[in-house]
Amino acid sequence: MEGVSREIRLVGHPTGFPGEDLFEVAETPIPDPAPGQLLIRNAYFSVDPYMRPRIGDARSYVAPFTLGEAITGGAVGRVAVSRHPGFAEGDWVLHLIGWREWALSDGSHVWTIDPAAPVSTALGVLGMPGFTAYFGLHAIGRPVPGETVFVSGASGAVGSAAGQMAKIAGCRVVGSAGSPEKVAWLLELGFDDVFNYRERPAREALAQVAPGGIDIYFDNVGGDHLEAAIGAMRNRGRIVACGSMSRYGDGEPAAPRNLFMVVTKRLRMEGFIISDHLDRFPEFLATAQDWVREGRLRYRETVIEGIENAPSAFLGLLRGESIGKMIVKVGPAEDA
Ligand code: NDP
Repeated sequence: MEGVSREIRLVGHPTGFPGEDLFEVAETPIPDPAPGQLLIRNAYFSVDPYMRPRIGDARSYVAPFTLGEAITGGAVGRVAVSRHPGFAEGDWVLHLIGWREWALSDGSHVWTIDPAAPVSTALGVLGMPGFTAYFGLHAIGRPVPGETVFVSGASGAVGSAAGQMAKIAGCRVVGSAGSPEKVAWLLELGFDDVFNYRERPAREALAQVAPGGIDIYFDNVGGDHLEAAIGAMRNRGRIVACGSMSRYGDGEPAAPRNLFMVVTKRLRMEGFIISDHLDRFPEFLATAQDWVREGRLRYRETVIEGIENAPSAFLGLLRGESIGKMIVKVGPAEDA
C-alpha cells in the first residue's frame, strides 16, 4: 500500500521522572503483507503503567523496550489487507502492535473483537484492565457480601472496574484517588466513600472512611497506601497485590514497615500477572459485557488525539492526569 506510517520510538532511558525527549516520531513506508500476514490500520492504542519499567534499562518481569525501535503495546484496529486465512478485510481486531498507525502481523496475538461495543473498550473495561480487576478481585480477594473493600488508584482503568465489581459482589467499597474530580466521579459510580490522598494521608483517611476496618485491599499503589491498608485490615483479610504506582521508577526502599501484621492478623497477600490467567478471559468477557449493557459497570476513557501526542499521554498517565482508561486515537474508528 502507498503511503507513510508514523510510529513512536524509544530513543533514551530515563533517569528520574521520564521526559518527552525519550521518544521520537518516525516515518516508515506502509508495509505490504506477505502470504500469511495481515496489515492493520490502528484506531486506538493503549498507554499503560507497566510500560514505565519497560522504558528503563533494567529487566523486570517483562523485557525493556529496545532503543531505536517502535514501542509495542495493546491496540485496536481494522484489517486493511489480509493474506492470512484467519482474518478478513474489515475485521476489527485487538493486538499487541501499538504505538504506530499501521501494524504488520503474522496473526499471532491477534484477536477478532465484537464491534457491538465501542471498539476502544477492548483496551479498557472489556479488555486487559477490566480483566485484571475481575481476576484480582474474584480469584484473589474472594469477596463475601457485607465485607468492606478498599481500592487504591480507584479512578483508573483497573481501580474503577474493581470497585464497581466489588459493589456488584455486595460489598461496601471505599477508594482513594488524586483529585476532587476523580473523587466525585467515583461517588457517582456508587463507591460508598472516597478520599483524596493528596489532601490527607491514607492512614488518617482510612480510619474515617472505614472505621470498622477492611476485609479486602485491592492495591494499585503500594507504598504508604499499602502500609495504611495493612494497619486497617481485619483479621483474615486479603490483599490483592495488583500494582505499585507510587513505586515505579523509584529504587529506594519504602513503606510498608508493618509487614509483621500479616502474621498477627492472619492476612493473605497475593500478587498476580494477568497474562498468566488468559484461560479465564472468556468467562470475564461474557460477564463484563452483560454488566456494561445493564449499566452496572460504567467506564470513562481519556482519549488523546494524534500519534505525536502519545508520549505526553503516557507521561500524563504516570502523573495522574487521566480518568478511567488512557488511550491514544491514531486512526478512523467511525465504523465501530
Ligand atoms: P491507571 O489508569 O490507574 O493510571 C495510573 C494512576 O495511578 C494514575 O492515574 C494516578 O491517579 C495513580 N498514581 C500515579 N502515581 C501515584 C502515586 N504516587 N500514588 C498513588 N497513585 C498514583 O492505571 P491502570 O488502571 O492501568 O493500572 C492500575 C494499576 O494496576 C497499576 O499499578 C498497574 O501497574 C496495575 N496493573 C497490574 C496488572 C497485573 O497483571 N498485575 C495488569 C494491569 C495493571 P491519581 O490521580 O489517583 O494519583
